[in-house]
Amino acid sequence: MARVVYLGGLGRSGTTLVERLLGELPSVCALGEIVHLWQRDIRDNERCGCGARFAACTFWRRVGEQAFGGWHNVDVDRVHALRDSVERTRFIPRLAAAQLPAAQLADVREYASYYSRVYAAAAEVSGAEAVIDSSKHSALAHVLRWAEDVDLRVVHVVRDARGVAYSWTKTVARPETDGSEEMTRYSPGRSALLWNAHNAAFGLLARRGVPVRRIRYEQFLSDPRATLRELADYAGVPAEDADLAFLGDGYADLRVGHSAAGNPMRFTVGRLPLRRDDAWVRALPGNQRRLVGAVCAPMLRAYGYPLNPVEAPQEA
Ligand SMILES: [Zn+2]
Repeated sequence: MARVVYLGGLGRSGTTLVERLLGELPSVCALGEIVHLWQRDIRDNERCGCGARFAACTFWRRVGEQAFGGWHNVDVDRVHALRDSVERTRFIPRLAAAQLPAAQLADVREYASYYSRVYAAAAEVSGAEAVIDSSKHSALAHVLRWAEDVDLRVVHVVRDARGVAYSWTKTVARPETDGSEEMTRYSPGRSALLWNAHNAAFGLLARRGVPVRRIRYEQFLSDPRATLRELADYAGVPAEDADLAFLGDGYADLRVGHSAAGNPMRFTVGRLPLRRDDAWVRALPGNQRRLVGAVCAPMLRAYGYPLNPVEAPQEA
């Protein structure tokens, strides 16, 4: 049974950073956002974290052979049809039920089986004890809950909703498309609603008995070493001093990884500064900051975030 550390949370919460650092541990293999593998990699042949096109990456070629006898044997249309019928945020209440109707359970398990085959093959090819899927989507985590061949351990990454909202307003190019496309943007009101919905969905998953460990982005960056030890313990993998030698004072030294999809940070190799991104405190306009603070107030409070961390910037 494949042991999977599933990194969940709303995008721009720091999941890629957590994945990159956790993926440096010798018994862990970071796979990126597997939810996008079917379209962006198998179909569109985008770049792997190692820089090669997906089809040219030796690691992924071996995983495909091991999992499916080659990626050409994956019916991507079938994966998409199953996704549309089971993996939607609006289906989470149904997926969170104690039991599923037989027909739905069959679809859920068939969809999950594509993922579990990738996880098991990646563990075998890499020799890792645990693989990381940083797909983030709460609906996919609820789907994987029903898989019988996945040892699912969810890490729920939360970040101050106002920092997340500010990040979603910024323009970021997608380097894997050689600059022709940008990452999605959301208005602060929209991202505030998504922040509530996705974070609540992980709370619900925990109440259904799935192991869910919550970490705060801000806390992670204030002591990455301690948080990584805690996560390694949770994932059941060693994190000795020598295993953490890649962490320096305020930086991490990253090796080449094979993340299939995700935030552009997946391409970073070498020294990565570890700095908390608090730009929103100065840059998010006061009205947007109050809107997001109000919409997200109950959960911000529950996660221990101050509602008024600093004085709101003066409006012109
Ligand atoms: Zn690669």
